[in-house]
Amino acid sequence: MPSDTVGIMGFGLAGALLAHALERLGVAFCWADEPGPNPASPMAPGIINPLAGRRFKLNTDYASSHRETLSTFVAIEELTEARIWHPTPLFRLIENAEQAAELEARRREAPDWIGQIHPAGAHGSAVHDPFGSFETLQAGWLDVRGLTHALRSRYHAAEVPVSELADHAERVVDCRGWRCQQEARWADLPWKNARGEVLQIELEGELPRHLWNGGGWLQPMPNGQWRAGATYAWSQFEATPSLIARTELVGKLQRWLRLPFRIVSQSVGVRAVVVDYRPVLGPHPVDENAVIFSGLGSHGAILGPLYARHLAGHLAHGSPLDRDIAVARFLQ
Ligand SMILES: Cc1cc2nc3c(=O)[nH]c(=O)nc-3n(C[C@H](O)[C@H](O)[C@H](O)COP(=O)(O)OP(=O)(O)OC[C@H]3O[C@@H](n4cnc5c(N)ncnc54)[C@H](O)[C@@H]3O)c2cc1C
Repeated sequence: MPSDTVGIMGFGLAGALLAHALERLGVAFCWADEPGPNPASPMAPGIINPLAGRRFKLNTDYASSHRETLSTFVAIEELTEARIWHPTPLFRLIENAEQAAELEARRREAPDWIGQIHPAGAHGSAVHDPFGSFETLQAGWLDVRGLTHALRSRYHAAEVPVSELADHAERVVDCRGWRCQQEARWADLPWKNARGEVLQIELEGELPRHLWNGGGWLQPMPNGQWRAGATYAWSQFEATPSLIARTELVGKLQRWLRLPFRIVSQSVGVRAVVVDYRPVLGPHPVDENAVIFSGLGSHGAILGPLYARHLAGHLAHGSPLDRDIAVARFLQ
């Protein structure tokens, strides 16, 4: 029966982190999930690269919250005994002279995030790096799939069928990722969802097991294989993996990786994105019991813990939501 219990619809990264944040605040919750086409969390690499993008721009959300973000991952590891956070050196290849100049600017603005700078050829014959490379500090990857599995098990007793969620909770938070767009209530948000594909590959030859980024990225997996990604496309959200994406990913890798590789598998997921690339969260302006937590875009691992806590605080104590991420910025 409806009560103060918070309902969580969708248990990918957003739903799982919200559940964890609510537990920490002592707020009762229940959750429901129904498999749909191409969710992001089961296939997402979860890479945390504080200096992403072609201009190595510092992610300011992460810069201000990274200690708390990482401590959330550690807390979930302690709670579930699952290993989900993998701190890993990230080597970023500099693609041209313009990027080398950007790096100089970033070194002045964000020196705490830039480690050793390597000259061309420093990584041997496996890597083509004519403009050199640098190490990004505080990088790593979150096992997004592992986190959601571990928290699903922990909160198993709070799971209810989708059709019964509203019977258990008056306030329901929609955490259905890109599929929030298909809900009439949220359909008017300026969605800009982005389909993305990744390859799982086996390398023939030795490459230090770091995160690498040479335009596309390469991520070492615990089973000895690597993941390579990712593509961006703004349609075909329900379609299976494509040959176009496979060709694009192979091309991206071959621009800098000089080792042969074999493709083991290919997967597709859709990022929930709105037009200003910020999360969307909070109650609907005309129905405060309908709440959303979505729009984590390409940065679910970086932004998820911070904004799950922010929303949980609002749900528990009515603490105000930041205007630049509140859903009310789009809906009157
Ligand atoms: C290719 C790709 C690469 C990425 N790389 C990174 C990265 O390197 N670093 C990073 O930080 N982030 C990355 N991301 C982003 C990150 O993965 C996402 O931001 C995050 O996983 C989104 O989680 P979510 O819970 O909002 O959505 P989802 O993971 O899509 O979860 C939605 C959940 O809702 C459920 N659901 C759907 N429909 C219904 C329904 N009708 N009823 C009930 N339940 C439903 C689904 O089963 C699913 O469990 C990447 C994403 C993609 C696609």
